[in-house]
Amino acid sequence: MIRVLVAALALLAASSCALARQAPAGLRAPPTRPGAVFGQIEWPTARLYGDDYVDLAVVARKLGFKFALAGRKATLSDAGGTRCVFEDIERDFHLDGIRVHMSKPVVASADSLWITKQDAEKTVLPLFRPADLAAQLPVGAPRLIVLDPGHGGTDPGTENAKARISEKTAALDVALRVRKLLEARGYRVKMTREKDTRFSGNPRVDLPMRAAFANKALADLFVSIHFNNAPESIKGVETYTLTPQHMLSTASTAPDDDTPRALPGNRYDHANLLLGFAVHRAMMRGLETPDRGYKRARWAVLRTLACPGVLVECAYLSNDEEARRVAKPEFRQQIAESIAAGVVAYSEQLEKLRPEPKK
Ligand SMILES: [Zn+2]
Repeated sequence: MIRVLVAALALLAASSCALARQAPAGLRAPPTRPGAVFGQIEWPTARLYGDDYVDLAVVARKLGFKFALAGRKATLSDAGGTRCVFEDIERDFHLDGIRVHMSKPVVASADSLWITKQDAEKTVLPLFRPADLAAQLPVGAPRLIVLDPGHGGTDPGTENAKARISEKTAALDVALRVRKLLEARGYRVKMTREKDTRFSGNPRVDLPMRAAFANKALADLFVSIHFNNAPESIKGVETYTLTPQHMLSTASTAPDDDTPRALPGNRYDHANLLLGFAVHRAMMRGLETPDRGYKRARWAVLRTLACPGVLVECAYLSNDEEARRVAKPEFRQQIAESIAAGVVAYSEQLEKLRPEPKK
């Protein structure tokens, strides 16, 4: 027990300055033990800081990626051009330049970088090898999509007086544009609201009732559209899907009452991941805007969905520059085109990974 503690302290010291090559020789290789299984492959894990961790060098080797370690950064790359960069202490990584958040930070140990078993199983490996979990995906491309413009009526959401714009108005305008684009591509679309109204008279149940609307309509996909609010300097796009069971949400630092719970929406964890990444990547490609990352949260509107769902925070109305951008119809059209492109990319991926059986 004490040896483990000493090792953990040494690793903590090592990861906070540089890689663990500075740790005493006896601590270079943390004990590995069988643990995670993903895609028929068993991933050895090591116990670090009270969590099971997977070595990124092993991930690279088993998946046929090239592994390069330089300073605090580890890069995994393949011949197909995929490039994924992890950095010691950081709680996110970049996959093909797109920022993806994990539940716990990367740690340095034994001349490598390690991620938690949970992040490996629920985020990193499923993004690298989506086909390995194809059986967990819905069959075929989505047909009916429910668009959910956030807020409405007496609930304006975030407002920016200088740019004379409110979240409820911008979200509805973007959703109507997305509907047009998706219908033109043959999707059926329903909206939780088409006017400036509250979804429910009771604000406490407004969000779960939006999910219930999608469930009743037998939606194949749910897209909630919002605009963000934060201290004035913050700008960019955030894209959310429901946090998987047992995982910490992006902003959380400790488990709470909801962490151990399996929510109905968690049946779609793998599809949510592919959807969230596809929509976030499309937003980053379509808009010149800072990348706040693909994140996980247990938002009320996503918890009880009976289909995959995503919530996009398209821009910060709390930032005057972004609010002025959002006030222009051309920018709202760009946002709508990016969301639609993300939905189409996800649909095409589903068609490839889980095609409908031929009749
Ligand atoms: Zn909102």
